[in-house]
Amino acid sequence: MSSEKSGSPKRKTIIEPFKIKMVEPLPMTTREQRQEILKAAGYNLFTVAAKNVTFDFLTDSGTTAMSAKQWAAMMVADESYAGSQSFERFDKAVKNVTGYNFVIPTHQGRAAERLLFSVLVKSGHKVPSNNHFDTTRANIEFMNAEAADLVIEEGKDPQNTHPFKGNIDLKKLESFCREYQGKIPCGMLTITNNTGGGQPVSLENIKGCSEIYHKYNIPFIIDVCRFAENAFFIKDREPGQKNRSIKDIVAEIFSYADGCMMSAKKDGMVNIGGFIALKESKWVDQLRNMLILTEGFPTYGGLAARDLEALAVGLEEAMDENYLSYRIAVSKYMAQGLNKAGIPTLQPPGGHAVYIDAKAFLPHIPPEQFPGQALVCELYLSEGIRACEIGSVMFGAKKDGKFIPSKMELVRLAFPRRVYTQSHFDYILEGMADIVARKNELKGLKMTYEPPFLRHFTARFELL
Ligand SMILES: *Cc1c(COP(=O)(O)O)cnc(C)c1O
Repeated sequence: MSSEKSGSPKRKTIIEPFKIKMVEPLPMTTREQRQEILKAAGYNLFTVAAKNVTFDFLTDSGTTAMSAKQWAAMMVADESYAGSQSFERFDKAVKNVTGYNFVIPTHQGRAAERLLFSVLVKSGHKVPSNNHFDTTRANIEFMNAEAADLVIEEGKDPQNTHPFKGNIDLKKLESFCREYQGKIPCGMLTITNNTGGGQPVSLENIKGCSEIYHKYNIPFIIDVCRFAENAFFIKDREPGQKNRSIKDIVAEIFSYADGCMMSAKKDGMVNIGGFIALKESKWVDQLRNMLILTEGFPTYGGLAARDLEALAVGLEEAMDENYLSYRIAVSKYMAQGLNKAGIPTLQPPGGHAVYIDAKAFLPHIPPEQFPGQALVCELYLSEGIRACEIGSVMFGAKKDGKFIPSKMELVRLAFPRRVYTQSHFDYILEGMADIVARKNELKGLKMTYEPPFLRHFTARFELL
């Protein structure tokens, strides 16, 4: 993976900054077998068994390979119901990273969202952000409030190469806060901006956002699922930040906010877990009471103590600069490789994923025949890859019997942390030439079964 940011400045190749002591066989299938599997699954990769997937790029959430140190920590976990030593270690680790005083464990990100919004948000409220992630938006809307997306215009343009496409539009934010004074229980910012393609937010923008929220007395809560990846982008791309350590940048990010929510299944480097952390005590009692009602006692919050141990170690590992430069090089390397093969992607590549522009790649397949899904199927047939369609299967709609396509037809390849190696990626890129050579033969699909909601999970298709 070529980058001038490698551990040794003279080398072009970035190596995996780890060695492997526990392995899992890679499921291998033939094209003929995959053809049968795909047909039986109704051409929907969500219903293909993982044992039949060679490269699983469905999500980076909870798919991290844990380190020897994390597994070792799990073995000494203290599974006491109340006041366990594992909670003490977890609590200390979160306080260390965030600088906040109050830590509430949850089983994953959406549990943190539900708790916080059920305490803060009332009917008719408005919560601004750059882009709310799906579950964040859903939990705000569940309280009969509005989730407002105020990302900069550059963040909406797939080919714009702005270095911080996750930035919030500070002008729009200021007028939003002025207009809805008294109706905004908290203001948010998602780093990196997952919904906008894993795009980072600059330090300057985080600071500006904080100043506006505080001018209007609005508590600032950051969604920090990918705080370490965001900090690496700041170091790499923001003027004046090159010589700072990731930890230093991370500390500055957290210093601007009043609290945070995290799905630790991302930069927590674990398979399950999350938390809320807050500077001040104001909502803590209420949150803990809610936690006890639905998640568990405040010193485990729906997790096993061993999960808390793994997370305490994972938060530190996520900030390792060798790890981060390898991590960010993966999506960059894959995007460059795909582009070189003739497959267009959203620019610039995000931290955790690459988004293929299926509409541009397969112009002969109209949106109502799902070009994204056609490519998802081809990636599986040719390469054994499981990718995720983010287009008209996920977001298309019907109105008065008429098909309304999604704005974009994307295919997301999300990369699990520390799971696949450079040769896996090279192998995949090698196979892309075949797909490009045969792209005009690829056919669209017809949806033959459609469930009433979240149809992409269980819909079935037939080849046209
Ligand atoms: C994954 C994610 C969440 C939700 O977390 P879960 O652990 O999946 O419940 C919230 N916000 C962002 C930005 C995410 O990426």
